Amino acid sequence: MAAFGTVFMPEMAISWFDGNRWSDAEVVSSDSLQLHPGAHVLHYSSTCFEGLKAFRHADGSINIFRMDRNIERFAQSSELLALPAIDKAASEQMIIDIVRRFKDEVPEPPGSMYIRPTHFGTEPAIGKAAAPSMTSCQYVLLSPVGDYFSGGDTTLRLLLEENGARCAAHMGMIKSGGNYASALRPIMQAKADLNADQVLFCPGGDVQETGAANFLLIDGDEVITKALDESFLHGVTRDSILTIARDLGMKVSERQLTVEELLERAAKPGCEAALSGTAAVLTPVGTLIHNGQEFKVGNGGVGETTLKLRQTLNAIQWGKAEDTHGWLTKI
Ligand SMILES: *Cc1c(COP(=O)(O)O)cnc(C)c1O
Repeated sequence: MAAFGTVFMPEMAISWFDGNRWSDAEVVSSDSLQLHPGAHVLHYSSTCFEGLKAFRHADGSINIFRMDRNIERFAQSSELLALPAIDKAASEQMIIDIVRRFKDEVPEPPGSMYIRPTHFGTEPAIGKAAAPSMTSCQYVLLSPVGDYFSGGDTTLRLLLEENGARCAAHMGMIKSGGNYASALRPIMQAKADLNADQVLFCPGGDVQETGAANFLLIDGDEVITKALDESFLHGVTRDSILTIARDLGMKVSERQLTVEELLERAAKPGCEAALSGTAAVLTPVGTLIHNGQEFKVGNGGVGETTLKLRQTLNAIQWGKAEDTHGWLTKI
């Protein structure tokens, strides 16, 4: 099967901000984007994006998961990057309209339609290294995706990185291209040197997140994860899993977690760890690598509670369990 995010619908929704107003959204070919080579984004990385999914239910309806949260984060990323403000209602309508247009292409569960809104500075002004772009563009690209776990459930190996950081501390809560570029070299190195799947960034011993997913430690009936601050990305999946954990009667602790405490707890039998994000939902972590030593999380296998939390969230997304929190938008 094609790799995640490499298949696209042939058309996308697009809108341009000319310095005063947003143009009416249009539907254009997905490979038609004309930019001036001096466009602000190409030089100064004025860009942010979102990732959310639409699911097909057994009754044939198409349902978008927590779109309001993604729109809020898209607006916040745009604001923190000094991009022109998005019109939240219009951005939401762009998503709904383009998903409706390709509703017949939304895969059956466990597949889904991955939705990628993107916003970037277009002003042709290479002298604006320290000034914002007055004009911008946003589009909504669609990519049908299959079962992330089709190869069966395996566990990830994470390198705990205490010296480097994923991105500049004040950029953490912005879903912006430059942050991924900044994390790339350490991730490549961890893969090459240690056969690690991901790097868990823990600057100064503070357990933060990986390159594109949040980290959760599950110790018995307690879920422990870093409390929200501006240093890391506030995942919608993180919030959904924590809500489900509370619904299931588990204790949720949003607080600081140090590398020392993580390694101490992970060694206990029955302890689990997982990464959360829209693409993979909840992926089990089996091994932590720290200062040249490897530590199993629990028995190193796929955790029962991790699976239960993922299945509970999937059941809501797939229309097999009641959507008690009103997370789905039927379109
Ligand atoms: C997108 C992303 C996440 C996960 O966010 P979701 O809303 O759950 O998809 C976590 N960390 C980073 C750095 C991300 O880019």
